[in-house]
Amino acid sequence: MQTQRLRIAIQKKGRLSKECQDLLKRCGVKFNMMGERLVVHSENMPIDLLLVRDDDIPGLIMDGVVDLGVIGENELEEVGLERIARGEPAEYTKLRRLDFGGCRLSIAIDKDAQYNGPQDLQGKRIATTYPQLVKRYMDEQGVEFSTCMLNGSVEVAPRAGLADAICDLVSTGATLEANGLKEAEVILRSKAVLIQRVGEFSADKQALIERLLTRMQGVIQAKE
Ligand code: ATP
Ligand code: ZN
Repeated sequence: MQTQRLRIAIQKKGRLSKECQDLLKRCGVKFNMMGERLVVHSENMPIDLLLVRDDDIPGLIMDGVVDLGVIGENELEEVGLERIARGEPAEYTKLRRLDFGGCRLSIAIDKDAQYNGPQDLQGKRIATTYPQLVKRYMDEQGVEFSTCMLNGSVEVAPRAGLADAICDLVSTGATLEANGLKEAEVILRSKAVLIQRVGEFSADKQALIERLLTRMQGVIQAKE
């Protein structure tokens, strides 16, 4: 069901939400984030913001339910691979990479373990929230492994005896250190990106997207 208004999915609460809202505001989109609403209507532009879990954003774009979305590349690529594996549509257009949400997806092991390269991970069990990205990397390296799927507390899995290693998002490395782990391999460098659904857009929506992109370019350049 397509609407006249441009629908943009953004993370409701989390590491991307504040910067994402700030970016839209600097682009001149006025809105008032009050309460626990799912949809927030812009007061000055034909734009509706959809406030959701970040995990839902790639699917909303790939199913064509919303027009634009802001999402971390890690989540976007993981969901894309998962949907391809299930035979579901996984197409989208990347409009631009943004200047926030930077992190890396890394494999980490016991800080005292020897590490000379991916072959040292042969036969290991890796705890992760990103099984598809881990599989893609390990297949590329020709290294066999098994997974332990966890949606939280990934970094405690080795100490808890659930896994030999982990693959998780890292920004400073402090969480790894606190859990007696060290970074062994970076498998993805991620940032937040603005994505668009595939398919037709009305002339009005198309013009609005272009205006937003031009403003975004200005806003991001001004910060550099
Ligand atoms: P939600 O409740 O929306 O599912 P979440 O807990 O999955 O939230 P957040 O922790 O808010 O997600 O992270 C959202 C995104 O922020 C990550 O997917 C990643 O792209 C980015 N990010 C940037 N730095 C980090 C970091 N140090 N750790 C985790 N994510 C980070
Ligand atoms: Zn999430």
